[in-house]
Amino acid sequence: MTDYFEVHDRDGAARIGELRLAESLRTPAVVDDVLVDAGSRWPEARELPEGDDSVLTVLPHRAIPGGTPDDVAEAFATDYPDVDYPSAAVVTPDAAADTTDANPDAYVLSNAQQIAGHARAFVDTIVRTREAVPHDTALYLPGVATPANVATLAYAGVDLVDTDRAVVKGSQGKYLTTDGEQFLEDLDELPCACPACQQPIEAFDRADCEQHNENALRATLGTVRQRIRRGRLRDYIEGQARHEQWLTAVFRRLDQQYSYVEQRTPVIRRAEITAATEDTMRRVEIQRFAQRVTERYRCRFDNPLVIVPCSAAKPYSESQSHGQYHDAVQFRGHTLSMTSPIGVVPQELELTYPAQHYDSVVTGHWSATEKEFVADVLEAYLRRNDYPRVIAHVPGEGYREICERVEASLGLDFEYTVEDHPTTTDSLANLAATLSDELKYGKRERQHNTVRAIADYQFGERAGDALFDDLRVGSRYPKLRALDSDGEQLAALVPQYGVLSLTLAGARRWVESDAPTKRVEIDNFVPHGSVLAPGVVDASGDIRVGDEVVIEGPQAFAIGRAKMSGPEMVDSTRGIASSVRHVEET
Ligand SMILES: [Zn+2]
Repeated sequence: MTDYFEVHDRDGAARIGELRLAESLRTPAVVDDVLVDAGSRWPEARELPEGDDSVLTVLPHRAIPGGTPDDVAEAFATDYPDVDYPSAAVVTPDAAADTTDANPDAYVLSNAQQIAGHARAFVDTIVRTREAVPHDTALYLPGVATPANVATLAYAGVDLVDTDRAVVKGSQGKYLTTDGEQFLEDLDELPCACPACQQPIEAFDRADCEQHNENALRATLGTVRQRIRRGRLRDYIEGQARHEQWLTAVFRRLDQQYSYVEQRTPVIRRAEITAATEDTMRRVEIQRFAQRVTERYRCRFDNPLVIVPCSAAKPYSESQSHGQYHDAVQFRGHTLSMTSPIGVVPQELELTYPAQHYDSVVTGHWSATEKEFVADVLEAYLRRNDYPRVIAHVPGEGYREICERVEASLGLDFEYTVEDHPTTTDSLANLAATLSDELKYGKRERQHNTVRAIADYQFGERAGDALFDDLRVGSRYPKLRALDSDGEQLAALVPQYGVLSLTLAGARRWVESDAPTKRVEIDNFVPHGSVLAPGVVDASGDIRVGDEVVIEGPQAFAIGRAKMSGPEMVDSTRGIASSVRHVEET
């Protein structure tokens, strides 16, 4: 049980944590001021320190050098005692799992300095260590942090750093900023407003440089924490990490560690995604949306498909261009918006995160990677969904090329309706004329299909039919309410995220249906407002932050929204595991 570290907020693998010392410390943070190292056991036997709750005590340890044969490493492995003050254990990734019985609050990576600068070793070490230790413990990477790399360290899952490297660099006359380092001799002015830099450059010496470097590191950590709280760390490092090759390689390699990052990435959130680079396409949020659209979503309309370009304004249907397409289509076609970096967005999912939460740089040009990604998604979509006709109302550049590629690959014949530009009078008239013999679908069909499509997306393939076979819909889009045939409410559409929130009746249906249910099993109590992690007995492994979860225990049946992943709920001893929307005593 970790008494002295709690995670409050998550942004992918990055977290806002709290080291609960006498004076608590918000992480990611510099740990220098509160760290006491009881020392290495190599030179001499060490007494177990008495410790106290004002500091984090690194327990006596034997650091095993990298490359040590396993049997030797094992023979010298440290057995850590379970102490009742804030403590940290020095570990290698291989030994981390063997140390969890001692319940340290933090883990110190002994090979930190060997992996810094090497993307593959760094990602491998951090991921293996994080996966071996409980979620609610801090990971400390000593001797590595600089203003340029600390955002990426936090992004990978590091909670604690120190000023050692920054200070050493200062003593060598290297001036650090978030975009790298420069020799003092090469600086024509001091590009910083910290106290150490408030003097003429001629008077600025290496002691000042040490102080500046430390200030710059602390200031950057403030930026990093704020980014994590807002769910915007990824946007930041896509730009900032580019200043050092190995850091760019680190976040790209993390994209390949999909399960590690995916487990830690919320399924819904308020934060916008800024798509400024091609790396955005490899983000979990984008990949997950494409995967669900092509593996869970199923079109329930019998009408032709109308492919249109996305709009800058979101949701698309509120944009001027989509208003014009809508006037031409008049409910005679099923609209699919084609977009980079998301892929394709069926009309029923236009509110669903991140379809209305991204902002991309519009240049009118598509890169080869963008074309390939969107073409792959469109092709997978059309393999799964059969339409009587496919009408492509798209402009020439990029969009048309993607459509032609998919058309050829699937042996389909698309009908093209755009001359020059999609919103010209001629193009819109073409679109309307192409659909002139088609029947309109009604409002009820549209509403039902929307509720069911979102359920498929959110809960799994065919969940829309399993949960809502006898559906009635109340209220106006986008604030739809899903009712059963007796008029009892089962769910409501949350326009902000484009997902369904269930009522207790909806939750019961979910449990009884064939759709895979995400469950949190709790102890013998009735939760009100929230369920705390210590009250969780078990939880589905596939629960992600933001998921609907059924909460069940001997005394209660409830529905809520997950605040932690399933694995984190199970191995955490602190923090809110789930909110509780409705509860009933059983
Ligand atoms: Zn400064």
